[in-house]
Amino acid sequence: NVERDSEIQETREELPVFKKEHDIMEAIKHNDTVIICGETGSGKTTQLPQFLFESGFGDERSEHPGMIGITQPRRVAAMSMADRVSNELGNHGHKVSYQIRFDSNVKPDTKVKFMTDGVLLREMMSDFLLTKYSALVIDEAHERNINTDILIGMLSRVVKLRAKRNEENPKKYKKLKLIIMSATLRVSDFAENQKLFAVPPPILKVEARMYPVAVHFNKKTPYDYVNEAFRKTCKIHQKLPRGGILIFMTSQQEIMELVKKLRQRFPMPNKRHKKQLKNEAEEAEETEEVNVEIKVSSKEVEVEDEEIEFNVNEQDKDDFDEGDDEDDEEEEGFDEELEEGQTSEDPLYVLPLYSLLPTKEQMKVFEAPPGNARICIVATNIAETSITIPNTKYVVDCGRSKQKVLSKTSVQSYEVSWISQASAEQRSGRAGRTGPGHTYRLYSSAIFDGFDRFSVPEILRMPIESVVLQMKSIGIDNISNFPFPTAINPQALIKAEKLLQYLGALDEKKVISQVGRQMSLFPLSPRFAKMLLTGNQFDCLSYIITIVCALSVGDPFLSEVDLGIDHNLLNGNNEEGEDEDEQLNAAEYNKKMARKEKMRETLEKYRKAHAKFSGLSETSDALKVLCAVSAADYFKDSAKKEKFLRENFLRSKIVEEITKLRKQLLYIVKVNTVEESIGVNIDYSKELKLRPPNKNQIFAIKQIITTGFIDHIAIRADVINPDVRITKKSTSGSIPYSTLFSAVDSFDNGQEDIDPHVYIHGKSVLNNIGSKPPQYLVYQSLDLNATRTKVRMHPLTDIE
Ligand code: ADP
Ligand code: MG
Repeated sequence: NVERDSEIQETREELPVFKKEHDIMEAIKHNDTVIICGETGSGKTTQLPQFLFESGFGDERSEHPGMIGITQPRRVAAMSMADRVSNELGNHGHKVSYQIRFDSNVKPDTKVKFMTDGVLLREMMSDFLLTKYSALVIDEAHERNINTDILIGMLSRVVKLRAKRNEENPKKYKKLKLIIMSATLRVSDFAENQKLFAVPPPILKVEARMYPVAVHFNKKTPYDYVNEAFRKTCKIHQKLPRGGILIFMTSQQEIMELVKKLRQRFPMPNKRHKKQLKNEAEEAEETEEVNVEIKVSSKEVEVEDEEIEFNVNEQDKDDFDEGDDEDDEEEEGFDEELEEGQTSEDPLYVLPLYSLLPTKEQMKVFEAPPGNARICIVATNIAETSITIPNTKYVVDCGRSKQKVLSKTSVQSYEVSWISQASAEQRSGRAGRTGPGHTYRLYSSAIFDGFDRFSVPEILRMPIESVVLQMKSIGIDNISNFPFPTAINPQALIKAEKLLQYLGALDEKKVISQVGRQMSLFPLSPRFAKMLLTGNQFDCLSYIITIVCALSVGDPFLSEVDLGIDHNLLNGNNEEGEDEDEQLNAAEYNKKMARKEKMRETLEKYRKAHAKFSGLSETSDALKVLCAVSAADYFKDSAKKEKFLRENFLRSKIVEEITKLRKQLLYIVKVNTVEESIGVNIDYSKELKLRPPNKNQIFAIKQIITTGFIDHIAIRADVINPDVRITKKSTSGSIPYSTLFSAVDSFDNGQEDIDPHVYIHGKSVLNNIGSKPPQYLVYQSLDLNATRTKVRMHPLTDIE
């Protein structure tokens, strides 16, 4: 007997999900697992927990005495939804709580608990059967986060176990109900997955009334989308009828920039607003530190909290047009006119909405704007499906979002990338909740056509060894039998487990080791995590961080090919060349000679620079990179640094990216290790500047690299096979090496005739040493040469 405020009750009754209460509760009564699909805003998140509560879940005397748990992928949603439901539950409001990592208001009498999926995963480690709960609602399952996917897999088992126990001893054990909720109808990965649910769970659809939304693409895709959003929003506000504007941006930084500009352009009549802006700016600054915090991989998924800067690479940049405005005449979606009482200089009530904004500030988006102001909310993709903003008529969509990525750099970070078509449609849908609306996409329809249809489940975007390590760290031992919503290639799984064993993260029985647990704390690919751990032990952490970053980002050295060096021309001894020369007239000949001379000079400088960087060790490519990157740190003055990089044939963009990543990684190591007492030996007060490593450290660095690439060892063929002869004339690139595991397997498709040995790549420092290359090498990667006959390795270091 919940007593609610009458206003709240009226609002509830208007929600599409409200009419379905009976059907939903019947389905839950007769099935242990139920899937609910409903358009964003239909009332799933706020109402389902209340339906459960009112039908007796959480009541000690009932068949469902345990708590009602609801998971959210984002902290902000867990907190704000708990707050809302608490309000709606009237006299029982105090029974609603939230729990996120490091913060909770759960009390002994909590009956409805909102939490992040990471929190529930951790609870399962100590109580697999989750006996505290009688119902678990997994919300936002369409997002396909790793944590959500893993949770659903695990819960499918718990539900079965609890049902079995209940059958055996109904007094002592009660059933667990699982409710999976999705904002889209794309739930077949759950519903039709025999491994997950032997009997397909019923799917309940909540039909929400949707009004048509006119979609307007930009003709061109401007590179500076923040500015384009500003321009578009101004135009909407000045020309179009009443109705809220919702703008999708990617980060807090962009949001605050746009909010500031819009507030300055269309100020609210009172000063209060100015003060508010100031407060928010200060708050943003205060939270800056938290902002860079990157959560340890499996522990908590924060989809869009992080303020890690991203880089658009040069290529991507070419796809954009340089910020030229749309032709006013042609611009679509401006056929309507201002309504009576509106002017083009009306105030605009601009509010930011992002995860780290204090809950009180977030709640403002649900209130009506003061006076005759138009409301305008600038949000991250949190407003895509997890928070519904009332009365939105216009959506401005930048087409991008910040996503967690690991694969590209092997270091977990957040990058801005294009959204999927499905996401773009979700965003558009926000404009059609209360009446017909408009969506302005700040990109061309051609760009849209190139989007993925749906976003790829996170589990498929991560390197498998990272996923496996994460799962082991939360106590899932048998991964090959794990009911993933989207299956993982079994071969790849076996390989990943093997690698983790080599790295010492798993023991012979594939059980996670102490080292593995520590490794799982770093949001890095396991190889690099292992290197950092060992690096810490040997007091080489700063060097190893630099090397790891360089290996993740890419080669900072320009190649001879990049410089246009043509050895045929330089050697000039092929007959063809001379024939050609005879046909040249004197002027042409001189020109050619001058070019040759220039090239020779460049090559000389290039070799000198490389020799300089090989100073620490002439047999280690990893140390060469370390040397080059560290040298660049010594230039405070950016012009001088630029000159240094140019003169030494280094790619400034890559060096810059490495530096950025080093700062992030230092921070990650700091925040994630103190608590778990790995006891990192590093002085964070110092700058990035590194002293050159001493002899012992150089030795240690090579060993440490080896620990991360222990399965990537190559042995010079003559060491193990006396038939292989190496003469004085052999060049480094022609000397065969044998790998520990057949390297050819991964390339061979059975048709090719590939040499079973591997050979040093032409870019390696090892081509410049005067003597035989080392007997043992550790390599980073292998690739096939152009003729597909030989495998080339990219060496990291020799093993002394
Ligand atoms: P769904 O989960 O299906 O997307 P929700 O349950 O989140 O839907 O939202 C239902 C309605 O409740 C929406 O119209 C939303 O605007 C409203 N709502 C949610 N939180 C609040 C709040 N704190 N204050 C006012 N209205 C809210
Ligand atoms: Mg919801």
